[in-house]
Amino acid sequence: MDMTLTQTLTVIVPVYNEAENLATLHQRLTDAVEPTGLSWDILFVDDGSTDQSLSVIRRLAAEHPAVGWLSLSRNFGKELAMTAGLDHACADAVVLIDADLQDPPELIPTLIERWREGFDVVYAQRTARAGESLVKRGTAAGFYRVINWLSRTRVPPDTGDFRLLSRRAVEALGRLRERHRFMKGLFAWVGYRQIAVPYERAPRLGGSTKFSYRTLWNFALEGITSFSNIPLKAASYLGLVAAVGALAYGLYIIAKTLLYGDPVPGYPSLMVVILFLGGVQLLALGIIGEYLGRVFVEAKQRPLYLIGESQPAARQLDRPEDLEEAGRAAVRTGD
Ligand code: UDP
Ligand code: MG
Repeated sequence: MDMTLTQTLTVIVPVYNEAENLATLHQRLTDAVEPTGLSWDILFVDDGSTDQSLSVIRRLAAEHPAVGWLSLSRNFGKELAMTAGLDHACADAVVLIDADLQDPPELIPTLIERWREGFDVVYAQRTARAGESLVKRGTAAGFYRVINWLSRTRVPPDTGDFRLLSRRAVEALGRLRERHRFMKGLFAWVGYRQIAVPYERAPRLGGSTKFSYRTLWNFALEGITSFSNIPLKAASYLGLVAAVGALAYGLYIIAKTLLYGDPVPGYPSLMVVILFLGGVQLLALGIIGEYLGRVFVEAKQRPLYLIGESQPAARQLDRPEDLEEAGRAAVRTGD
């Protein structure tokens, strides 16, 4: 952190069909961040929206010098949209915030305060989840419990992607180029000095959530397989238990036959054992398959995302050359 220059801040907003929320978001962001006195801008990342989002963003950029944007070539998903934003931001600090105003921009000055105290990752932690169903709250709580039980990387519960990252945290994240990105895990993996700031999560301003239970389920699998190989180990332990059990049962049968003769019993137990072992084997294969599929995707080494168009904010932060250079490098390599 260089105290002699004005500090700079970029607010990254992943956008997927949020046209109706963007003007309000821009207004509330400006009202919240302008008084902090930082040299700041907004980077909208249009994640292949199919509504008017991109034209709304263009209009905002034309009217306000602090607005820049880039658009991905198609919908890549929020994780990759955020990654694209992080790759293109070179401010001293970066804030990630949802476009639907569930994350209150008014909290940003508090995040900045903690950052100025020397924290690298200042994450907002929900105290209330207004407008979310009991089922969603329950599954979310269960998920955090499972992932923290399975993985050595501590993922703090009730945190979203709403957070502030220092320059070195952004740079560290930039070095993690895995294709399957479970950002909450990656943020935690980076380490450095992290701190939570509690806030109340508001309901969505307009539009509807982009995440169905199916995508959330896949997301949960993503998180677990990216940060833990315990499921793989579980398969071998289960196999061990089954093998020991089978051996014991085999010995018991031999002993019984020798002692009492053999009146052709055993069809039910045979079926049970065959079906049980068949199920266990398929389960184990499925788990291996989950991991293998991810290895396959990584092995292809595709770029994480492709940029369609981009336009940096007209207002330049302190180090414009860096900004452009970083942008060009990321577009060149795409990863
Ligand atoms: N989003 C995105 N790409 C997607 C889905 C969502 O960039 O494929 C953005 C979306 O525009 C919003 C944020 O990610 O700014 C959070 O999405 P949403 O509010 O639908 O998620 P929820 O709050 O329900 O978890
Ligand atoms: Mg939302």
